[in-house]
This record gives sequence, C-alpha cells and structure tokens, in this order.
Amino acid sequence: MEFWKEKTLAQMNTSEWESLCDGCGKCCLNKIIDDDTEELYYTNVACKLLDSHESHCSHYSTRFDYVPSCTQVTMENVAELTWLPDSCAYRRLYLGQSLPSWHPLITGSKTEMHQHGMSTQDKVICETKVKYMEDYIVLWPLRDLN
Ligand code: SF4
Repeated sequence: MEFWKEKTLAQMNTSEWESLCDGCGKCCLNKIIDDDTEELYYTNVACKLLDSHESHCSHYSTRFDYVPSCTQVTMENVAELTWLPDSCAYRRLYLGQSLPSWHPLITGSKTEMHQHGMSTQDKVICETKVKYMEDYIVLWPLRDLN
C-alpha cells in the first residue's frame, strides 16, 4: 500500500513515519545563518556521525547520546523545520507535495537517489576536520528533483 498517498502525516504510524526518511543525509549537514539577513546556507560539512558513503547516521538509534543537539523530525515540529531541504520527504508531504520519483519507497533502494545526486553520498567532509565552516558553503543540498 502506498500509505504516503492514502494517509496524512498525522495518520501515519511510527514505522510508516520512519520509512518516509529517504536517508539522503542532507539534514546532517552543518548550516550557517547570516546574522544580518537571516539567510540560511548549507555547507558540505557533515555531522561526525554521518557515514559519508552510505549517507546515513552511523549511530541512528543512539545518536542523541553522541549529539544531544540532533533534531528528531516529528509531526509536532515539522512545520517549524524550515531548514530541511526542499527534497526532504517530510517537508514535501507537509507542503502537500508528493514523494519524488527517486524516493527509496518508490524505487525500492537508495540507488536512484544517489545516481540523481540527491543525497550526500561521497560529497561531504566530517566536521571534525574543518576549521572554518564558511569555507564550505555549497548549493547542491538545495537542489530538488521530482
Ligand atoms: S533531509 Fe529529510 S529525508 Fe533526508 S535524511 Fe533528513 S529527514 Fe530524512
């Protein structure tokens, strides 16, 4: 059943909600907000827990033990998480859009997502190796593709 077409976000059970995450890893990138303009910039500097090839969290179930500031996307906060990339499944469904054609729930794997460049795979540097975040601003995380 294509539950994401039949149900609202609020009607989904926990496993359906979790499976919406495409595992792109873009939310695990450090972001910078300009103090003057409040504009948000993505960097290709990843959280220390991101597996840079698999583009998933290496300690997902215990991530808050390592990174207490990590954000869990929930029904309660999805409206406020405007920094999530436009391609994020939670953001897309919240805004009334459909899942993209490359989404793992539709294709059955993360392969197409990676092939279309919609994930962080092999594009990031670990935050433990970076001194000035400003040197790593990138535009690719903002790209979206249906
Ligand atoms: S940006 Fe959204 S879809 Fe991608 S990994 Fe983060 S929560 Fe999942």
